[in-house]
Order: sequence, then C-alpha cells, then structure tokens
Amino acid sequence: MYECDINRMEEKIKTFSKFGDTGHGGITRFSLSPEAIMARNEIKSRMTKLGLDFKTDDMANIYCTLPGTDPDADVIMSGSHCDSVRQGGNYDGILGVMTAMEAIETIVTQKIPHKHPIQLVVWTNEEGARFEPAMMSSGVVTGKFDKATMLASEAKDKPGYTFGQALKESGFEGSESNRINPKKTKGLVELHIEQGPVLEDGKYDIGVVEGVCGMINYEFTFRGQADHAGTFPMPYRKDALYAASQALIYLHQQFDNLDKKLVYTTGKISCHPNIHTIIPDEIKFTLDARHQDPAVIAKCVEIIKNMPKEWARCTMSYEEAWSRKTVQYYPQYIDDVEKVSNEFGYKSLRMYSGPGHDAQYLCDIVPTTMIFVPSVGGHSHCELEYSPVEWCWKGANVLLNTLLEIDKQ
Ligand SMILES: [Zn+2]
Repeated sequence: MYECDINRMEEKIKTFSKFGDTGHGGITRFSLSPEAIMARNEIKSRMTKLGLDFKTDDMANIYCTLPGTDPDADVIMSGSHCDSVRQGGNYDGILGVMTAMEAIETIVTQKIPHKHPIQLVVWTNEEGARFEPAMMSSGVVTGKFDKATMLASEAKDKPGYTFGQALKESGFEGSESNRINPKKTKGLVELHIEQGPVLEDGKYDIGVVEGVCGMINYEFTFRGQADHAGTFPMPYRKDALYAASQALIYLHQQFDNLDKKLVYTTGKISCHPNIHTIIPDEIKFTLDARHQDPAVIAKCVEIIKNMPKEWARCTMSYEEAWSRKTVQYYPQYIDDVEKVSNEFGYKSLRMYSGPGHDAQYLCDIVPTTMIFVPSVGGHSHCELEYSPVEWCWKGANVLLNTLLEIDKQ
C-alpha cells in the first residue's frame, strides 16, 4: 500500500481555496471565470512540472497524462470539476481534482511502477451555476447534450453572453480530437465529498459508491376560485392553497411508508395571485423524489397517479417534469475501492449518491466508479462545506491504491 503526503494535501487545499475566495470560508468560482482560469493555470503548471502532458478538448475539459511502462495500454482516468456554485465550498469537485493530483504526485515522487497511463481529468462546467445545464461538458463528450445548444447557453447574469464566447476567451479551448476516447480508456474513478451527513454520522472514513439514485420530478397544479378574503364564508371557498397543503401532507404520509432511504422534497411553490386579500386560485408545487431502487421510485409514481383529482373542492393535475434512472457503477471497481479501504483499516460504507456527478455520464461509455469522503455536518453548496485534511488524505490514499489496483487488471 502506498500513502499520499498529508502535508502536500493540505497545501493543495489551501492554495485552491484562494481562487475565488469569498473572504468568509468559501469560494465563488463559476466555470471559465477569471477565478476558474487561475485554478486551471495552477493545475496546468503543477502537472507539467511533474512531467505530464497537458491537453484540452473542444469543451475545455482538461486531460493531463502520466505515461506508464506500456505505451499502448489504455488510460486510467481520475478527476472531477474545479467550478463552484455562488458562495460554495472548498471541496465540492475540486477535492476530486486535488486528490487525483496528489495521487499522481505520489506516483511520480515515489517512482511507483505502473503499466497504464494515468490521467488527471477536469470536466468543464459541472455546476451549471452561470451557464446551464449542470454536467455540461461531460454531457457533451458522452453524447447526452448537443454541443451547439450548449455553446448557445447564455450567462444567467449577462444576457447575450454565451458559453461559446466564454470558451473562446478562456484560452483553454482545444481540439475535438482530444476528447476522451472510450476505446482507449480502461476506466475512471471520481473522488467527491459526500455532500450529506450519513458517513460522518456513522464515523465512516470512506463511502464506496455503488451508483447514483434514480429520481423523479413532478409538478402539481391546484385550481380553485379567486374571491374576496373578507366576504366569502369558509364553506363556499375553493382555496387552492388549502387544497395543495392537504395533498402535500397526504404525499408525505404515503411516501414515509415506502422506505427509509427514500428522500423527497417540495422545493418550489407558486401562489396566484399571491395577494393577502384574495383567496388563492392557483398553486403549483414541485416534488423531487430519489431512491436507488427503481421499484421504490415506481411506487412513488403509483401513489401520485392514484391521488384523488379533487382536493378541498379544487382540481388537481400533475405532469412529470423530468426523471433519471438509477445509475450502476462498475462492480469490479466498486469492489476494488472497498478492498483498498479495508486494507488501510478504514471504515467504509457502500452507498448510492443522491446528487448527480460527471461520473454518472462517463459511466455510460467507460467502466466507472466513485469514492466519497465525509462532509462535516453534511453541509455542501455553501461556505460551511468542510472535510478535515486527514479525511481528504485518507480519500487520496484509497484513490491512489484503487488506481494502482486497476492498473494490475
Ligand atoms: Zn461536485
């Protein structure tokens, strides 16, 4: 077993936390922003100093390659993203980049023999915080998104300014021929923070990620009658907000009976006309539900379909906004992560990811898995996001030895 250097790990975290520092514990580092360019230049200079070959593709995805002893062997990839949400933390995405850099630095400095080329990869615009959608460039190279549509995506804060322009100005636009070649790729391992409280709660060191939870997203509409709040006696009312609240409680009661791993959220609601003297006549709310087992998701859908179409004298309708099937990672690599973790004496937990990650798209074209590092308090996408350096270093150790394990296969 080879160990990474905890001091180097700490230095990396400190350095990258400067690019987009908000001054109160987090960063704002939108994809291809000046702050992200600083992070990219730092990655480039560190990797080229270690003797790696640096390339970008036409979506500015970064590939830094350390050759192995067999020049014809397929590439083993590891990495994540270096962009953040507004006032995000110092770990989401970038920890997967920093641990891959640390693993590679350890291989170089300890002269660890390996047959396959080992490659750091940094996917452009994972967050979709400025240019939608999320996981944009891993989506393009895996054929999920149309490139022309992505290039036309406009900045949320600057109408008319497109992702395509930002890409041109970034200096990181490369050639399409540099994109990941699935035929020449042995596999990919992405390390990421958990972004939830489960690992810390159970005092686990490592999450062995088996896949990404499937999810559904529905939008409900309740229609009643707008009338004067002062003149209408209660029995005559068709109050759409009251109807929607009854239905929401019903959904919670039904979903709570399904499975304790099911998570579901109503995060968006609109009320019309939203005036305090008028009985609401239209309410819309969303329902996002996630679970690893498609059978549980199917039960959620069944509950929705069997709901009464009338609530408190108001009508109810719904539509599926979008959904995603459960993604299963590559069984051999999942076992490798678990085995390596056990050999270090780390306590690990097999689990599914709730959030989406670049790896779930890559999983469709190359054997893929993920490693989770615990998040203090489960906080993420905020400045409270934190994982102590020792936890990050343990993750880097598992990543390094998993890459070396894959190298033997
Ligand atoms: Zn992320």
